Amino acid sequence: MEPMFTPALHRQRHQFVIDFVKRKKPKKVLDLGCCECVLLKQLKFHREIELLVGLDIDGVQVKKKMHGLAPISTDYLQPSYDQLRIELYQGSVTEKDARLRGFDLVTSIELIEHLTLADVELFSEVVFGYLTPEAVIVSTPNSDFNPFLPGLVGFRHIDHKFEWTRTEFKSWAMKVCLQYGYEVELTGVGQAPPGQQERVGFCSQIGVFHRLGGKERYNMFDEDAEDVFSYTLLYSIIYPSLHDNNILRRVLMCEVVYWADKLKRRWTAEETGERDDTDDLCQAEGEGGECFRASERHVDTEEAQTAACGAEMKTLVDQEEEDGELFWRRGQPDSDKWRRCVSVPLAVLWCCCPKVSVLSGSVSNLRLLLMDEPGVKLSQDGSAMLLNHQEQDLDDDESDDDEHRADLEDSGYADARQCPPLAEPEEDWEANV
Ligand code: SAH
Repeated sequence: MEPMFTPALHRQRHQFVIDFVKRKKPKKVLDLGCCECVLLKQLKFHREIELLVGLDIDGVQVKKKMHGLAPISTDYLQPSYDQLRIELYQGSVTEKDARLRGFDLVTSIELIEHLTLADVELFSEVVFGYLTPEAVIVSTPNSDFNPFLPGLVGFRHIDHKFEWTRTEFKSWAMKVCLQYGYEVELTGVGQAPPGQQERVGFCSQIGVFHRLGGKERYNMFDEDAEDVFSYTLLYSIIYPSLHDNNILRRVLMCEVVYWADKLKRRWTAEETGERDDTDDLCQAEGEGGECFRASERHVDTEEAQTAACGAEMKTLVDQEEEDGELFWRRGQPDSDKWRRCVSVPLAVLWCCCPKVSVLSGSVSNLRLLLMDEPGVKLSQDGSAMLLNHQEQDLDDDESDDDEHRADLEDSGYADARQCPPLAEPEEDWEANV
């Protein structure tokens, strides 16, 4: 048999909610009668939502699929800037619970017809009188449409206690509005056959309620309300977000290490005259290309600097080299190893990599964050990141080493210089870079 609705009716109901969410961008959303969390699983992708809560009387149904609400690997690998917490409760919509007050949107999709009429009264009191959300979407079967449903005898579902005509639904909705200070728009999903829409309406009728009087009304109820907790928490998860300082640091470090290494390879390849395979990478990645162009040029004018990187960047660049520098440094204490180091100014890193600048906010923040990172070695004045390039054995390769240094000078790499051996023993930071 041909399906009567395309997309299927339950999908159309959920899409109606999703369209509302896209338009109104609520931050706190509560789904009453969430069952197997099908709607919640779609809503979690709308990251303007910060708190997503489901409630159902049937904990077994909820538990069946609730783990599908957990973050997936990309949520950890590329954490969003937005925050999201998801909670699921077992409980009845006829009982109050203070944790569900103050939501921007409450949805009740095909729920009220499962309640006795006495419980619908309690539902109205709890949802509109106690929870007082800014908006409520209620969907329920429209019995005017039932003659069009082939083979239907009685109600559409065995557990339905009633199915309202459009007039009955409207009368309940108007009563709620008058009693609790809301206005309602009546609509629906599931079109009637051609020419019949006016007469029978939608297959699922929907009321979209908006609270009158804005936020003050919620506060008015809030003052007298006692804190009742009648629901059982079944599930709670906080999504990884860049608001979490540890996550922010981890992501920032990945970016810093990645771009610092790219710059290092580029500069050392320039200096040795070798082909740099990061060129290919660069071409593949738009921002990489930008990065290397920035590292190559010496910033010409003050205006150019300011335009490119902002005032802070300019100050820092004025103070130091805007390009990388290569030098030699003694490695382990008591060892004859010399390490060739590359110095990557933080200002260049901040300027070249958009993600680093967004995540850190400013070059001074970047420096503060990197100062606490055990895997990062900063120059003494904290203005540059030092990366190991390669090791040379001083005794064995002294002549090579001299040659190398001469090469460096000849290459016109003005910044290349030999560092005096350090007086203080250095920690082994190579392993951590
Ligand atoms: N909203 C879902 C499921 C609707 S079926 C959807 O759109 O697909 C109705 C759901 O309401 C069932 O999961 C049922 O367990 C739940 N329910 C019934 N009475 C309830 C009550 N008093 N309080 C909370 N949930 C209830």
